[in-house]
Amino acid sequence: MLYENWLHISSLEIKTPYCPPLQKNISCDCLVIGGGFAGLHAALRLVESGKKDVVLLEKRICGGGSSGQSAGLVSPESEEDMQTVIEDYGKEKAKIIYNIPFKGTQIIIDTIKKHGFKCDFRKQDTLFLSIKKSHNNTILEEAKAKKEMGLSYELLDEKKLRKIHPGKGYTLGLRYPGSYGINCFAYCLEMKNLLLKKGVKIFEDTEVHRIEGNTAKTHLGSVTAKKILVCMDKIRKEFDEEISKKIYHIQTYLAVSEPLSEEQMKSMFPNGELMCWDTRWDFIYYRPVEGNRLMVGGSSPWTAYYPRYYHSPKVIEYCINEIKCKFPKIKDIRFNHYWSGLIDATKDLIPIVDYDKKNKSIQYALGCAGLNWAAYSGDYIARRAINPKETEDLREFLGMHRKFYFSELFQKIFGKRITFALSHLKKFM
Ligand SMILES: Cc1cc2nc3c(=O)[nH]c(=O)nc-3n(C[C@H](O)[C@H](O)[C@H](O)COP(=O)(O)OP(=O)(O)OC[C@H]3O[C@@H](n4cnc5c(N)ncnc54)[C@H](O)[C@@H]3O)c2cc1C
Repeated sequence: MLYENWLHISSLEIKTPYCPPLQKNISCDCLVIGGGFAGLHAALRLVESGKKDVVLLEKRICGGGSSGQSAGLVSPESEEDMQTVIEDYGKEKAKIIYNIPFKGTQIIIDTIKKHGFKCDFRKQDTLFLSIKKSHNNTILEEAKAKKEMGLSYELLDEKKLRKIHPGKGYTLGLRYPGSYGINCFAYCLEMKNLLLKKGVKIFEDTEVHRIEGNTAKTHLGSVTAKKILVCMDKIRKEFDEEISKKIYHIQTYLAVSEPLSEEQMKSMFPNGELMCWDTRWDFIYYRPVEGNRLMVGGSSPWTAYYPRYYHSPKVIEYCINEIKCKFPKIKDIRFNHYWSGLIDATKDLIPIVDYDKKNKSIQYALGCAGLNWAAYSGDYIARRAINPKETEDLREFLGMHRKFYFSELFQKIFGKRITFALSHLKKFM
């Protein structure tokens, strides 16, 4: 297997111009830092609301961070399961929180449809699978939470499950609509083209090292702006020590197969495409993508919170073999490409979307674990920059100073890796 992001290869048809690095001092009305889903959507909202003078600075290329590495499961769900959110916040507040990924999903789908993006857009219902009887309760609890929130779903016993997903050994399934598959890197390229067409000035290969007052400093230039929207990832302590303590990452792996035959695809999805994930802690997920290929993703407890990129194919090979055991017809299929990525996340898996504590013209959308959360958060801070009075107030849930289960003192003693792992594992306790 080659360590290579297949999404880049499959997006070669989309032509985007080179946006050279910033090499002078400029000023503008609004500056966006970061060209992932959050930053691109922030910039789109600004120009679509009539802002004429928008600049976007990106350290690599647009989509060069998590957004262009993602499996592209766009679902109204969150990384944080609904049952946990209801337990932590109560039903009414859980509804407000769950509305965020729901609206984020809508923003992404509307953008694709409105602008005719070519990004392998596929309607794929979600199928959440129990891998053994002792895990059935997780599915039943999620079904209960969906019922409480008035969302549609279908519970599938083994017999019903086999009709739509004949994998061996699954004991219960939960199917729900409203989810879609996309090629995220292609989406970012299409967004970049759209923003350029709408007059946004984009500088790639341009890292912001620090912000002084209302000026963002880069290696060879600077941008002074009335409003600054920070949508970057992996924020370092040199950039902002306090915020950097609140964000860590979860490492995950993806692989894409060579094309499957129609018969092989039917052996997995006899009644239409689905995006599937299972009840393991380090859940394995898979879905069909462009060219009748299969995309498989997953992680492991040993690598998920590893401080750096861990490039070994071992984790994803394990995930692929698990799927092959469930579907013998694909046992000889090869997976030629694999890659890994670090998903930024906070301790409660809900992003930090807040004003800078000293300067209200600077806002942050950070630690967005999920494309839908990122799209919403970028859009939200842009709306708030334009018209704060008419923007919903979500500080209670997204604010930088909200309380987390494990305190800063705990984190100081046990370190980021353990604190974040335990915080995310809390839902299984
Ligand atoms: C392997 C993998 C699979 C995933 N699968 C899914 C999935 O199926 N569904 C889902 O919903 N989510 C998935 N995710 C998560 C999702 O991709 C992210 O949550 C989302 O893309 C975050 O978007 P963002 O804009 O906040 O961050 P990013 O996409 O990381 O964007 C931040 C950008 O800021 C830039 N930047 C950083 N520092 C600076 C600086 N100093 N100056 C200028 N620019 C800077 C970076 O280069 C980057 O492009 C996956 C992630 C990975 C890694």
